[in-house]
Amino acid sequence: MNVATKLKKIKQEIQEVCEKSNRDPNEITIIAVTKYVSINRAKEALQAGITDLGENRDEGLLEKWEQLKDKPTWHYIGSLQTRKVKNIIHLVDYIHSLDRITLAEEINKRADHPINCFVQVNVSGEDSKHGMSPLEVISFIEKMKDYPNIVICGLMTMAPFTGDEETIRHCFQRLKSLQLEIAEKQLPFAPCNELSMGMSNDFNIAIEEGATFIRIGTALVGDKEKEV
Ligand SMILES: *Cc1c(COP(=O)(O)O)cnc(C)c1O
Repeated sequence: MNVATKLKKIKQEIQEVCEKSNRDPNEITIIAVTKYVSINRAKEALQAGITDLGENRDEGLLEKWEQLKDKPTWHYIGSLQTRKVKNIIHLVDYIHSLDRITLAEEINKRADHPINCFVQVNVSGEDSKHGMSPLEVISFIEKMKDYPNIVICGLMTMAPFTGDEETIRHCFQRLKSLQLEIAEKQLPFAPCNELSMGMSNDFNIAIEEGATFIRIGTALVGDKEKEV
């Protein structure tokens, strides 16, 4: 199946989930995660109508950015080492992995305009996951008022690796309630209206629970070139 066919299928699924859960599909942006695949596959995704691409390493981002420039909206979705900020900061539109003060300091210092950042939250508490504890999120975001180049556009999480739907759903629900709590504060530097959650295996549940950005790799562009 080519990317266009896969995209059509995914959009149909989104449409159905939205109908069931009373949501507008236009609220949901599909980020094609191209970290496993080549530039050609990324181009194929854009031709199929994708507008947003996600990468999780500076090399991969740079390589694709050189060819595509600012045609797509770029998302940095991976854990971000502080020393790598300078390599990506002028290329990306969104950073999905803000999870510590030292990273906020570096982004603030290197950026020449306010950058949309998602605070990455480790809702499930799994050791292997990056992101801060839900208990730290509010005080962290309040500190962002001193960082003029950071705008907190929303929260991001990765669900635990499990086949148990209720565990995944609970994780997304907790992120949503935290997001609402922050949005209600109406902080000018943290509108926090967005929820980046849902991947190939769980985007349906994420949409039911309020996702506005879903990050899809395997199901859309494949995980290896020969797969599509
Ligand atoms: C790789 C990755 C994805 C996409 O994963 P798939 O399961 O291939 O859809 C989404 N989000 C993050 C943070 C990733 O690293």
